[in-house]
Amino acid sequence: MVEGWVYQAEIGHQLKTIGIWQVKDLMIPTNKAWNTPLIWRVFSPETSIRILSTYLPQETFQDQYAWSESKSGSLRVKDVYTHFLMQKGQLDAAQNQRAFWSKLWASDLRPKWKIFMWRLTHKALATNTNLIKRNIPVRPSCYFCHRQEEDDNHLFRDCEISARVWLGSNLGIKVDSSQIIPLRDWVRNFLQLFWKVDEVKSERVTDFVVTLWSIWIHRNNIVFRQLYEDPTIIIHRKDVLLREWTESKNLKETSRKSSVFSTGAQQERPISQISNYQQDICLMVVDGAWKRHKDKHPRAGIGWSASVNGTRAFEGNSIIVASSSLQTEAYAVHRGIYEAKLRGIRHLQIHSDSVEVVRAIGSPHQPFEIATLLHDIRALRRDFNTCEIKKGSRMDVILAHKLAVAARQGKLVS
Ligand SMILES: [Zn+2]
Repeated sequence: MVEGWVYQAEIGHQLKTIGIWQVKDLMIPTNKAWNTPLIWRVFSPETSIRILSTYLPQETFQDQYAWSESKSGSLRVKDVYTHFLMQKGQLDAAQNQRAFWSKLWASDLRPKWKIFMWRLTHKALATNTNLIKRNIPVRPSCYFCHRQEEDDNHLFRDCEISARVWLGSNLGIKVDSSQIIPLRDWVRNFLQLFWKVDEVKSERVTDFVVTLWSIWIHRNNIVFRQLYEDPTIIIHRKDVLLREWTESKNLKETSRKSSVFSTGAQQERPISQISNYQQDICLMVVDGAWKRHKDKHPRAGIGWSASVNGTRAFEGNSIIVASSSLQTEAYAVHRGIYEAKLRGIRHLQIHSDSVEVVRAIGSPHQPFEIATLLHDIRALRRDFNTCEIKKGSRMDVILAHKLAVAARQGKLVS
């Protein structure tokens, strides 16, 4: 459906001549995100906004429509791997690398990090040099130092910024520019060394991969969000990602244990019957701020603020791309639940002042523009013992409202 929608929207555009055959060609597969610069370049502003504001589900099991290549219709790392192999006709050569890749798949990493590593070592990331090879016009220089061309070697290792990240990391890797070996071999050498010394669940492998990933995220934040943060954030972000990864694994472990004693019916229990909390309830307010701009890119903000036992527990805000106020509100609810889950909260009560979103969550009928978001909201909800989503008044959500407005104006608290 989405596929047809894009084509219809841009009749007259020779999309296939520039290599866009399917909706997924407009995405960055490693991030499950839209390729924002490409979309702005190819489509009219109005269509771009419609595309960019379409939420891409992050829950792996819902990716049927994006990954039609896989037999099961769902995204599995193996399928993505096979897909890219078939594309590049490298199935034979890959036989020799099987040992390396089966170790990587068995490593203690998020699936998206594994896919990222595959793309990184196959020159399949959308770095400037790789884009230019595919005749996509971008300026070639590095977004960090602006001095050299941004190819894989430079971005992830040789740039002075990246070299400092490696030196400052726990791994203490000194980048020696006199020893120029291709990044792909450099990466493989390190991973193989760590596996040999630490075994397959090597923490250093996780650390190494997430460092590469954080460099990539930092670079993409500059390119796609014009976010010019201090490069020291790269190491900080890596630490946060590693901590979140550990927490989410612990969470899964806990919910696996607790699900032994509960039945599936518990998830469907009407909210009104849920009472007698045994643990603390986290009360959260969320809100979205959205304004239509005539000439500027639309910028929407979301905010969330949570308290436990009357004490402020955490809060935050973020800038998003959304095409309507309804979508913005749905994003706020989704993010709020996600943040609570990250912190290991088991009982959540969340308030939004959007009657449409609250109603749509409990209804089989939902506006198309928030359908994928609602899907993820429902999936996230199942990870809690209780998760109520309630309609609050504008005054109830005032804290979140202020955060959302601040985000829209570019003032981020975290
Ligand atoms: Zn550079």
